[in-house]
Order: sequence, then structure tokens, then C-alpha cells
Amino acid sequence: MAGFWFTEKQTENFSIKIKVNRTLHTEQTDFQLLEMAETAEWGNMLFLDGMVMTSEKDEFVYHEMVAHVPLFTHPNPKNVLVVGGGDGGVIREIMKHPQVMKATLVDIDGKVIEYSKKYLPTIASELENPRVDVQVGDGFMHIAKAENEYDVIMVDSTEPVGPAVNLFSKGFYAGISKALKEDGIFVAQSDNPWFTPDLIKQVQSDVKEIFPITRLYTANIPTYPSGLWCFTLGSKKYDPLEVEDARFHEIDTKYYTKELHKAAFVLPKFVKDLTGE
Ligand code: SAM
Repeated sequence: MAGFWFTEKQTENFSIKIKVNRTLHTEQTDFQLLEMAETAEWGNMLFLDGMVMTSEKDEFVYHEMVAHVPLFTHPNPKNVLVVGGGDGGVIREIMKHPQVMKATLVDIDGKVIEYSKKYLPTIASELENPRVDVQVGDGFMHIAKAENEYDVIMVDSTEPVGPAVNLFSKGFYAGISKALKEDGIFVAQSDNPWFTPDLIKQVQSDVKEIFPITRLYTANIPTYPSGLWCFTLGSKKYDPLEVEDARFHEIDTKYYTKELHKAAFVLPKFVKDLTGE
């Protein structure tokens, strides 16, 4: 890709165009088409199978909201797992919590990790941190083998197609519950209410069957389909809306704040309706 408009088809009837200055890398990996491009508006961007994954300009929104909501909800998260997340952005945010002793990242595609380090250095900046264990493997299999191990699990996967298709199944969420400790929390990106309302409905209903506390929260991510992005949180004990102020230690962010931690759970009516509440 060099000097042209990259089109991301978000539905059969709606696409966005992104001005690309030059291609940085294109490769059909064992799992997906990996494209890295320098763009005029968003800086370097990673695309997988033609879908925007992350950009240097707006990545902080997603990575902060996936990481800090569960990590401030849990009173003492020591052992954290990230499924997917090969660009390293969620890991970078986890490292801002000194009480986390170990963060394990399991991404199925080592090429994503390799090229994120090369072309997205500000996002992949903590993948070499001694507290981080980077593994290349299927997150579904990793979860299936884990039991009573993690305080927090974050699912930072691609959409429910291709290698991530079974990361949105009830069986996977049951596996997550088993892999979590008895007071564990998990968060998964659950796409957007404009184009994938049924997915959100299904995820919320599946998680609700497994976790006593299930909540949906949102963030504004301009490069993701519709810009209104959703996250599903399942918790065995701690409610994200009942975190006392003292718990919010100082942290370097550009989107997340302790006020937004709770406000993000206030949903527009058409989104709240998807949660069945
Ligand atoms: N923030 C992005 C989003 O919300 O779409 C996700 C970015 S991250 C790059 C997505 C990662 O999920 C990719 O690196 C991909 O290789 C990984 N992935 C997909 N299926 C997976 C699986 N079954 N196990 C582990 N990682 C997987």
C-alpha cells in the first residue's frame, strides 16, 4: 500500500477510507493477512484481515479502558492474563499497576508481536518488561488448561471470525471462569451496538449465566466500526461500580479517569436494551 486510500468495509453497506502514505509491511501469516501502514491521520496502523486493529493516534482509548477498569475494580490483582493483544498496548497499561507481579500475553500469531515491536514501538513498549511473559499460542487452549490461576483476564482479540471465532463462545467464558481465582474478573471487547447488536446481546447473556456480576461499558474509538465500542465485564465478586475512591492510585493516562471508570457504564437506551436490563 503506498499513497492511496485504504478502504475498511465495516458492513455490506458502509465503509471508511483511510489515507495511506506508505506500506510498511504486508504478509499472509499462518492465521491472517497482516498489514502495517503509515497513515496521514492516524500514524502507523495495524490491520488484520482488512480490519483496523490499532493506530498510534487513538490506541490509548481502547488499551486504557480494557486494562484499568478491571485492574482498579480488583483490590489486589497480582496475576493477569491477556488473550490476544499482540500489539502490546494492553500489556503497557497493565504495567502501570505496580501490584501486578506477572502479566502473561497469549497471542496466536507471533508475527503480530514481531511487527508491532518494529512499527508500533510506543504501543509494544512493555513487551520486554521482566514482569511480562509473552507466549505464542491459541488463547482458547491456554484457557482450557488453566484453573484457579488469574486475578484478571482480558480478552483483546480480533472479531469473532477466523482465529478468534471461538473466543466469543459460552464455552470459552466458562473456561475463563475456571481459569480465574474465586474473586476474579474478566473483560472482553464486545464490538459495537450499531453494526453487531446481536453479538453484544449474546455475549451479555452468555456471561450473565456464568458470572454473578455482568456489566457493559463503552468508549469512543474513532477508528473502530461506528466509533462506539463496547466492553463486557464479568466478575465473581467485585462490582466495578462499587470501587471506593481510595483505590484509585495515581496513574498516567490520556482517556481513563476515576470518574470515567463509573460513567462508562452509563449506557444510551438502545445499548442498555442489549443487556436485557
Ligand atoms: N484491539 C483490537 C480489537 O479490538 O479488535 C484487537 C487487537 S489485537 C492485535 C487482536 C489479536 O488477537 C491479534 O493479534 C490476533 O492474532 C489475536 N488472536 C486472534 N485469535 C486468537 C486466539 N484464538 N488466541 C490468541 N490470540 C488470538
